[in-house]
Amino acid sequence: EPVLELEKLSKAYTSGEYALKDVSFTIEKGQVVALIGPSGAGKSTLIRCINRLVDPTSGTASLNGTNITAMPTRKLREVRRQMGMIFQDYALVDRLSVMENILSGRLGYVGFWRSLFRKFGPEAENDAFGLLEKVGLPGYEDKRADALSGGQRQRVGIARALIQNPSLLLVDEPTASLDPKTARQVMRLIQDLCHERNLAAIINIHDVALAQQFVERVIGLKDGQVAYDGPPDGLTPEV
Ligand code: ADP
Ligand code: ADP
Repeated sequence: EPVLELEKLSKAYTSGEYALKDVSFTIEKGQVVALIGPSGAGKSTLIRCINRLVDPTSGTASLNGTNITAMPTRKLREVRRQMGMIFQDYALVDRLSVMENILSGRLGYVGFWRSLFRKFGPEAENDAFGLLEKVGLPGYEDKRADALSGGQRQRVGIARALIQNPSLLLVDEPTASLDPKTARQVMRLIQDLCHERNLAAIINIHDVALAQQFVERVIGLKDGQVAYDGPPDGLTPEV
């Protein structure tokens, strides 16, 4: 069952240079895919085309069978709710609690600030408690985000992405700011949660060895094009 289908997706910046050229692939439900490639290969641009922070020049991207490339901006909010984002720098709000940070994923940022003047619904809070346990941070709900270690912050980031029940996780360099041991734990957590929830994920990751340990499929980008698409053990050093 395809979750994400890209067909000849291309992006040319105003310079005329193609950051992406005819990128086509499909990601099935439950599939965890690593996106690798040298700096400038187009990884960030690809992720941004999928969540429509960048508008592709041509080609299509479909999420659960809906073409999101042509979708008007006002409808994007609904589509973005189906995509959980996890960031390299965690993107938590430092002076808010862990619980508030997680709930901001459910309500969206605008809704979140509005909701500071209300109480969160008990249902959302229950979900957040469940997720805190899942990511290995039970009892951390009232801690301020800036009191946490990098690994703990990323666990909160993962819980925030999952609370909106996405069908696709877009993960941008999740371990780049972490030490090797913590990086492996975070990758294992993402992998476990995806398998448990039958969730598709694209992980933009520069650490190829780490990717190889935790994903079943690697897509290698080079000069904006797919240079490799297959199992991690088929990768050769030059890709
Ligand atoms: P990666 O994430 O793999 O490092 P990027 O997607 O950031 O690659 O960049 C791909 C190419 O597109 C690079 O040549 C980069 O310079 C160019 N690029 C990225 N963003 C922009 C932009 N906003 N305007 C013009 N060129 C860009
Ligand atoms: P990262 O890889 O961490 O996303 P980058 O250095 O690739 O960071 O890009 C930082 C910002 O600059 C991004 O918004 C990107 O789109 C933009 N950018 C990257 N390359 C170019 C470029 N050649 N011209 C203009 N903007 C660029």
